[in-house]
Amino acid sequence: MAQKPLRDVYGRSFQYLRLSLTDACNFQCVYCLPNGYQKNHNSNSLLNPDEIVNLITAFASLGVWKIRLTGGEPTLRRDLFGIVEKMNSVPGVRKITLTTNGYRLKHQARSLSDAGLSGINVSVDSLDSKRFEEITGRGGLKEVLEGIDVALKVGFREVKLNAVLLKGMNDSEFGQYLEYARSNPVTVRFIELMRTGHNEKLFNTHHHSTESLRQFLLERGWEIKAPEAAGGPAVELVHPMYRGKIGFISPYGRGFCESCNRLRVSAQGKLRLCLFGDGEVSLRRLLQSQQDQDELKELICTSLQIKPMGHRLHENIYGMTESLSSIGG
Ligand code: SAM
Ligand code: SF4
Repeated sequence: MAQKPLRDVYGRSFQYLRLSLTDACNFQCVYCLPNGYQKNHNSNSLLNPDEIVNLITAFASLGVWKIRLTGGEPTLRRDLFGIVEKMNSVPGVRKITLTTNGYRLKHQARSLSDAGLSGINVSVDSLDSKRFEEITGRGGLKEVLEGIDVALKVGFREVKLNAVLLKGMNDSEFGQYLEYARSNPVTVRFIELMRTGHNEKLFNTHHHSTESLRQFLLERGWEIKAPEAAGGPAVELVHPMYRGKIGFISPYGRGFCESCNRLRVSAQGKLRLCLFGDGEVSLRRLLQSQQDQDELKELICTSLQIKPMGHRLHENIYGMTESLSSIGG
């Protein structure tokens, strides 16, 4: 019998889990880790593959079927392919995707595909190599774009480029991104910069709403596409002359939290109830043995009942999130 979806007290259902595999990162994006990754006491306590399987088994038996692996930079984990493979054999898991900065994608795309990954989101905050370096703190645009080509070549049908929209930094490249989407079968998604503990000054100077860009496209023959299953708050647009699509993720826009459909677990096994809230519940003690599955599921269901209705970013309250690298965005 099909499992009923997990629901919170506001009637939102959750079939999508974002699992962070590490807090570490080899980039220093200005809006995320401007001073680079600083090792802390959590660094050695990442969930191991067996704990991950126990975690995913519980979520899948509660109706979660889509898992996104994120970080930090998830491709830094040497056991990444094994993790994907193991997760793929968990009953109920139908789709595993990955969010990456793409630096190693060129060498990893085939193995990821062989392990059973079905989609990849790659962060590409500029299509100009100098600006790419300024934003990410590391060169490598060429490698990242080659990685995307390899991913398409080895057969990934769902490839998305994520660009955090930054006023005065990459907003002038909107036309180049459109050109990219004209000739490549990928979705280019613009993400509104979100305020976190690390980026107050940058946010005040560079935050750019996505609304005007969306309007620009709607006036030029683009149409809003029907949302995908478990697609969440992203809005995607299509145009008959373009092979790719354009998407917008607008956390400051209206209705964003109403359509929240995702749960997040940190690399140390903490269930985060809202990206910008204070609530987290450690699941780790119940990930050590399969015998604890019932208690684990019970804890997930009860925790969900205190998931807040929405974030309070408009009031400049961003909760415990110092940087999205600690929970994956
Ligand atoms: N390292 C991987 C990457 O960059 O794709 C995965 C982790 S990263 C935290 C996930 C996504 O969050 C990326 O697309 C990144 O650009 C985005 N992100 C990070 N900090 C952000 C912020 N303050 N506002 C908006 N998006 C942010
Ligand atoms: Fe690393 Fe991703 Fe954060 Fe950039 S956005 S610093 S790649 S975790």
